[in-house]
Amino acid sequence: MTDRKAQLAANLAQVEERIASACAAAGRKREEVTLIVVTKTYPASDVRILRQLGVRHVAENRDQDAAPKATACADLSLTWHFVGQLQTNKVRSVTSYADVVQSVDRAKLVTALSAAAVRGERELGCLIQVALDAESGERGERGGVAPDGVEELAAAIDSAPGLRLDGLMTVAPLAGEYAGRQRAAFDRLMEISSRLRAGHPAANMVSAGMSGDLEDAVAAGATHVRVGTAVLGVRPRLG
Ligand SMILES: *Cc1c(COP(=O)(O)O)cnc(C)c1O
Repeated sequence: MTDRKAQLAANLAQVEERIASACAAAGRKREEVTLIVVTKTYPASDVRILRQLGVRHVAENRDQDAAPKATACADLSLTWHFVGQLQTNKVRSVTSYADVVQSVDRAKLVTALSAAAVRGERELGCLIQVALDAESGERGERGGVAPDGVEELAAAIDSAPGLRLDGLMTVAPLAGEYAGRQRAAFDRLMEISSRLRAGHPAANMVSAGMSGDLEDAVAAGATHVRVGTAVLGVRPRLG
């Protein structure tokens, strides 16, 4: 094994242990939680190693980085998640490799994603990104729609050709009433998810939790955790 492979294997084992313990503590089955490794700022060679180590889901947040990486890894059977703020001029590119866009937060983006998916003859999974710190009717600073905008967006995705409404995503807020209260934030997301699922039963994905707070997310009921640093190491700069 190369040094890098050994390092990633050790890190993955630790994260796996954390997820398994969190599931056990919450009385949940391990299979209820899917690990998505966030590979942003790390090279395609790492993605390749991760796949050899059994990782099936990877996430990226910048199209400029993600597009060449996805191309370099096109031979691997991986599900690619896009988790960054998305400008409409990048939608065509993102749609060419992403299987799921987790950062859908406005109607204009739904229209653009739908057009690109239809044109590319793809079905694209969509998660609505919820900004738990956004004011009513607004978007959050790091993207995301305010909780009271979720249903309208869900209806738009539901009726958009080429798109599939899969559920919700959030990033624990740094400001507002949920700052520093990850568990409360993820509980709130679960409430919003329950309401959403009442009208859209198939939209049952809940993507929450990162390296620092995955236990809180698993305890609250998340189905997907997005882990970067704990698997790949500390990124050289914020990415
Ligand atoms: C970078 C990123 C993550 C992973 O964060 P870590 O703290 O490195 O685990 C998860 N979700 C999103 C949206 C990200 O941008």
